[in-house]
Amino acid sequence: MPCQCTTIPEYSCLFFGRVADYIVEYGMGRRLTRDESLEILKVSSSAGCVHNTNNFTEALQFICNCCPDCCGFLEGVRKFGNIKTVNTSNFLCRIDAENCIACGECVTRCPVQALELVDDKACLNEKLCLGCGNCVPICPVASISLVRVSHKKPVVGERNIGMGY
Ligand code: SF4
Ligand code: SF4
Repeated sequence: MPCQCTTIPEYSCLFFGRVADYIVEYGMGRRLTRDESLEILKVSSSAGCVHNTNNFTEALQFICNCCPDCCGFLEGVRKFGNIKTVNTSNFLCRIDAENCIACGECVTRCPVQALELVDDKACLNEKLCLGCGNCVPICPVASISLVRVSHKKPVVGERNIGMGY
């Protein structure tokens, strides 16, 4: 089953420090300039990818730009409603239902199927929303915003392994 997200850049997930050294040494990636990295973030964002990072205060190890079609973590949320596969942000999306024209763009865009159209209005399942913000810029009538709902903080310290959400 080929990936449905055809606009995702070839190099999409970014690694830093010792993890980046490991990735390059074993031929799983290549070194990027800062400008190339920023461009990848920009293009990934436009393609609907979800930025994920390790949730520690020290030693940034990676910024994954998770593919909404292929990423196993997002699929865990989508298929099984298991929000715990990732740490969500401190935000949830909010729909201005009065303004919604039921175009369905946000429904298609959401990587975890947290949005649906009900009675011609976009409706959010808060239990699934990651607070990723992907739906916000896609709305043609600016009916979606992010609102802060918590003040969770990253774990203090550093971990030596790569994928630790
Ligand atoms: S912020 Fe929007 S796109 Fe992201 S999970 Fe929530 S509803 Fe879906
Ligand atoms: S993108 Fe905006 S207008 Fe379209 S369904 Fe979603 S909230 Fe409504």
